[in-house]
Amino acid sequence: MIDEVMDRFYRIEVPLPDSTLKTLNSYVIKADDRNLIIDTGFNRPVCFEAMQEGIRTLDIDLAATDFLITHMHADHAGLVTRLATETSTVYFSRVEAQVYHGASIRQSMFDYAGINGFPGDELLKALNNHPGFKYSPETVPELTLIGDNDVIEIGDYGFRCLSTPGHTQGHICLYEADKKVLLSGDHILFDITPHIESWSYQVNALKDYMDSLDKVYDLPVNIVLPGHRSFFPDLKGRIDELKKHHKDRANEVIDVIGKETKNAYEIAGGMTWDIDCETWDLFPIVQKWFATGEAIAHLRFLESEGRVHRNTDEENITFST
Ligand SMILES: [Zn+2]
Repeated sequence: MIDEVMDRFYRIEVPLPDSTLKTLNSYVIKADDRNLIIDTGFNRPVCFEAMQEGIRTLDIDLAATDFLITHMHADHAGLVTRLATETSTVYFSRVEAQVYHGASIRQSMFDYAGINGFPGDELLKALNNHPGFKYSPETVPELTLIGDNDVIEIGDYGFRCLSTPGHTQGHICLYEADKKVLLSGDHILFDITPHIESWSYQVNALKDYMDSLDKVYDLPVNIVLPGHRSFFPDLKGRIDELKKHHKDRANEVIDVIGKETKNAYEIAGGMTWDIDCETWDLFPIVQKWFATGEAIAHLRFLESEGRVHRNTDEENITFST
């Protein structure tokens, strides 16, 4: 499905089957010299067909089209290698590129999950079923690296890049000041809460996320165009809701720990999740993975605020209050 958001500015809705996100918003801006496509969908046939159909309907010449990827996740970056041509510029976050090219991101996530109590026999299954690994681009195209405050001009639009770490470390939002439009990627969604996870002690993703919410809070905005689902006008109201959500979640984590000492996997199992499953044991393995990553992000945040203690020995990390 395609709709016109503004003058020569379109959204292609790309289906994401089996995902709670349901669809991805790929934004297409047409201009006389170059076009720009922002985010692309998973590297899987159903997404590729939707993008191709949208590109055909909008009469886009890919040889005259550049790409911008808000963050590295496969539902955004997945198709960029297949859609970009030899003459396409692919804009990608400098910070994200460092993480992307970092040595064995998969192995270090794997190790960190293990010491946080994720059962060893389930780890491989979780990673093999993880959409982020299954539907990534097969190769990385040549990237033009961007960072905070860089400006991308396209037709009547000038998009300022805003570095907004949290959902990922190098996440980028785009702000069009004249038209008061924020393309929020997965930093701020309306229908769902952006997933915040951490798989490394070095990253305090939730703290970064809260700071990045503050960073965009006062932007004059008429409409927010997120990476998934509905557009919305009330940026401040939505940020207030998201901040409250994470404060409530952090308090829930404290309650789940109670007087005991638990690892992150056990804590995740004690938290409430918006998923149709009777017990933690029945959770699909990928959902357990996301839940544990989110629990770790909250635990790391609470630790930095002095509200939980982390207990570390060589093979295990546990938490107490
Ligand atoms: Zn996404």
